[in-house]
Amino acid sequence: RASAEKFEFQAEVSRLMDILINSLYSNKDIFLRELISNASDALDKIRFLALTDKEVLGEGDNTKLEIQIKLDKEKKILSIRDRGVGMTKEDLRKNLGTIAKSGTSAFVEKMQTSGDLNLIGQFGVGFYSVYLVADYVEVISKHNDDKQYVWESKADGAFAISEDTWNEPLGRGTEIRLHLRDEAGEYLDELKLKELVKKYSEFINFPINLWASKEVEKEVPADEDESVDEEETSESTSSEEEGEEEDAEKAEDEKKPKTKTVKETTYEWELLNDMKAIWLRSPKEVTDEEYNKFYHSLAKDFSEDKPMAWSHFNAEGDVEFKAVLFIPPKAPHDLYESYYNTKQSNLKLYVRRVFISDEFNELLPKYLNFLMGLVDSDTLPLNVSREMLQQHSSLKTIKKKLIRKALDMIRKLAEEDPDETNDKEKRDVEESSDENEKKGQYAKFWNEFGKSIKLGIIEDATNRNRLAKLLRFETTKSDGKLTSLDQYISRMKSSQKDIFYITGASKEQLEKSPFLERLNKKDYEVIFFTDPVDEYLMQYLMDYEDKKFQNVSKEGLKLKDSKTKELKESFKGLTKWWKNTLASDNVEDVKISSRLADTPCVVVTSKYGWSAYMEKIMHSQTL
Ligand code: ADP
Ligand code: MG
Repeated sequence: RASAEKFEFQAEVSRLMDILINSLYSNKDIFLRELISNASDALDKIRFLALTDKEVLGEGDNTKLEIQIKLDKEKKILSIRDRGVGMTKEDLRKNLGTIAKSGTSAFVEKMQTSGDLNLIGQFGVGFYSVYLVADYVEVISKHNDDKQYVWESKADGAFAISEDTWNEPLGRGTEIRLHLRDEAGEYLDELKLKELVKKYSEFINFPINLWASKEVEKEVPADEDESVDEEETSESTSSEEEGEEEDAEKAEDEKKPKTKTVKETTYEWELLNDMKAIWLRSPKEVTDEEYNKFYHSLAKDFSEDKPMAWSHFNAEGDVEFKAVLFIPPKAPHDLYESYYNTKQSNLKLYVRRVFISDEFNELLPKYLNFLMGLVDSDTLPLNVSREMLQQHSSLKTIKKKLIRKALDMIRKLAEEDPDETNDKEKRDVEESSDENEKKGQYAKFWNEFGKSIKLGIIEDATNRNRLAKLLRFETTKSDGKLTSLDQYISRMKSSQKDIFYITGASKEQLEKSPFLERLNKKDYEVIFFTDPVDEYLMQYLMDYEDKKFQNVSKEGLKLKDSKTKELKESFKGLTKWWKNTLASDNVEDVKISSRLADTPCVVVTSKYGWSAYMEKIMHSQTL
């Protein structure tokens, strides 16, 4: 085409496309749900814009917010069309080729090691999955602010954009035409498409219609029908025989009905989804299976992994809303990578069933960003800008309730885990398969999201105690298992006032620490904190259930020992000499201590100073 402007794909995008096009990955179905999800996003966008400006919807068919799927079996084209927001020429250029999303290279890397394409949508590059099944793709798009354009590419490193002067005008929205490869013929089968939409796109909130063929039985006049037969046979029959047959038929005609039914193929739009909003239903009516599926569609995660837990509730009172929260089976790839800069909430906000945004960071504190879910409020106003909404006073109430529910959900996950409970009776109950499924769930949760709980303790003073209850760690007595503060306290010796802990790079290293000698000998339990974040954590977690935390490598460790006073007296000379010899800028003090058993002496951090491990962390950060 003469008017086509040519562009090269950004390098990472090009690499991704190469991998996809040569992929032997068997589950190529995923392209369809990615396209439907994009169509649904585009429809959400236009519906949101229409809240403040009705004009954007236009009139006639343009106001129908729907998705249409059509097949052309002869030309082997599968097309998916939406009446969403559409793309301008600039949008086409940027979104489909020249600007790589931040997840692109991460996904390419992951693909090369695992080969599992299932998570492509989570990395923000779902569109390119079309090249799993097509070798040529056209994207026709019309945005309110621009003319209609065609984007096209054969995945050969380049794409072209032309002003569309030959296709039917779309009005508004986007049509993706996939020229299917020979091996992808199965996607021309209506039954296959219906099955896929059912499986993957059940929870899309817009109607998905398929241009479906239908065999209809039609009544036609019997005569007319037979005259056709006659024509077909007329060549091979002589005129005399014809005359004879006609006579015979006329005789029969008298008994036969005047009409006959024949089968005919017609086409009509068939609705494939019923758009039930799961969160509007009563939690009692929704099955586990439905929650699992709903999670997968929300998270764009179509692996077999089920969410660890969910909470579905209806808040009433001054601020009304419905919400569903999920704990994902795994932490997303970038959860902690960019925690303090970019990590956003995974919560979708709806107001009266209209999708508003999934970038609303006012709904959950940062440390709960690993949760996936949805909030739909009747209290929030519909026709105001996003900025106004962000400042709405109800958001604070919603946030508070969401945090409470989220922490309850996590607490229950721990309580329901038969491995976690200390209650002997509960443990001895014959294990049902249900319980087997829950076994070890909390340890799994802790491995994936424990860091979030710790960040919560640091950031959320109001819920600090609730969060501290969720903490897990190993100790000198936990035997390789995880334990909680409550369990630690239940095992404390009667003479013990403080909760003892020690920080360091690994449990193995800490086990050899001289600081533990005497505590071990006296049978005190000591917590191992081996995550760098633990150092910060312990600056915020001062006490728990009226017990103070004592770092055993710091000054202030008091073990009941009657001899200490005497020893202090008799060694006064030595400690004084030693302190003077080392000079005061090297050590703060030299003291007689009761903390050691075999090691003669040890360097200890002062109560308010950094621990040795913290010094190490700080040092490595300034390098
Ligand atoms: P993601 O959907 O995660 O952003 P995709 O690779 O699926 O990533 O899509 C890339 C971008 O292309 C989208 O963010 C959107 O801007 C644009 N896009 C894709 N499909 C459509 C569509 N049907 N209508 C409008 N824009 C679309
Ligand atoms: Mg997408």
